[in-house]
Amino acid sequence: MDSETFEKSRLYQLDKSTFSFWSGLYSEVEGTMILLCGGIPFLWKLSGQISGRAGFGPEYEIVQSLVFLLLATLFSAVTGLPWSLYNTFVIEEKHGFNQQTLGFFFKDAIKKFVVTQCILLPVTSLLLYIIKIGGDYFFIYAWLFTLVVSLVLVTIYADYIAPLFDKFIPLPEGELKQQIETMAKSIDFPLTKVYVVEGSKRSSHSNAYFYGFFKNKRIVLFDTLLEEYSALNKEPAEGEDGENEETKSKTKNKKQGCKNEEVLAVLGHELGHWKLGHTVKNIIISQMNSFLCFFLFAVLIGQKELFAAFGFYDTQPTLIGLMIIFQFIFSPYNEVLSFCLTVLSRRFEFQADAFAKELGKAKDLYSALIKLNKDNLGFPVSDWIFSMWHYSHPPLLERLQALKDAKQE
Ligand SMILES: [Zn+2]
Repeated sequence: MDSETFEKSRLYQLDKSTFSFWSGLYSEVEGTMILLCGGIPFLWKLSGQISGRAGFGPEYEIVQSLVFLLLATLFSAVTGLPWSLYNTFVIEEKHGFNQQTLGFFFKDAIKKFVVTQCILLPVTSLLLYIIKIGGDYFFIYAWLFTLVVSLVLVTIYADYIAPLFDKFIPLPEGELKQQIETMAKSIDFPLTKVYVVEGSKRSSHSNAYFYGFFKNKRIVLFDTLLEEYSALNKEPAEGEDGENEETKSKTKNKKQGCKNEEVLAVLGHELGHWKLGHTVKNIIISQMNSFLCFFLFAVLIGQKELFAAFGFYDTQPTLIGLMIIFQFIFSPYNEVLSFCLTVLSRRFEFQADAFAKELGKAKDLYSALIKLNKDNLGFPVSDWIFSMWHYSHPPLLERLQALKDAKQE
């Protein structure tokens, strides 16, 4: 890494960590104020008044819950907006990653809000209904329901939801596509399609992933990962508005993305996650956890003191119970769980790297990791305690070292 890139990544890292300090502090303060000032019972009452005016009395708890949910998500979308704006148009912009215009940003935010509501509201009302009629073993039905919903969402997400936000184009026929297909075949990966997503419309950070069930797997590559296809390496297209040209010219002087062999090495790593069963293991862990949470929820939901502690003295709405228990009561447990998952994820990353190495991609993965780190201005030095707690991926130097050891073996 040359000293200029090192310096750039250092400044970027500093800006990011200052930002996350302040935004984290803000959300702690906001959350505490809401609890202290009785924000939750206030919003619940307000929701009752609104649904009452629409002709639904207090006996329509699900209607009141939906109004509450809509207002609460609207509130958090509005208070989160300045932070998200600052992050995109000040920090990412300053370090040359932002590719969005203000218009695109707002259109995206509104779309995201509407799509989220379209999923959240019907799913929540069904869940509340199941809890209501489920009897003694409602937690089993509730868990099964969320399991089905999450499987359905995973299935439809890539085909019906993600395309609402980004353009997916099939990877053009050519050397790269052939090489990917050959590699997939060599490890029995049931590949059906390879897509390129125009991630460069949002930001010049790069990535790759796969998705799909059973025999219908697809690979998605960010155009920013591919040296040959990255829009950022091309001359600005004519007819774009001025803001776009400006951001593009900033990145034009430096080529971004990986060579074909390196893209294959990155994919070798990704497919390692599949071959080693990491995806399935993660799903099983999260479903076991969700079952445990629903079970504890069933134990706790009858406690009136719990509701009283949060300002609900004479009513015990189910939605509020879900919120109190999953969000507040479980929060120390969630913190521990997320740490264990982070540790596990780092193990998986090393294993996936080792898998790519077995495919004979050690050298290309080595250079790809360095290149991606530079393109994304990752800062290569980290404190071990900080990285142990926060990083789902091992620090670059550790990964390189592991690959090097592997190479020598
Ligand atoms: Zn990985």
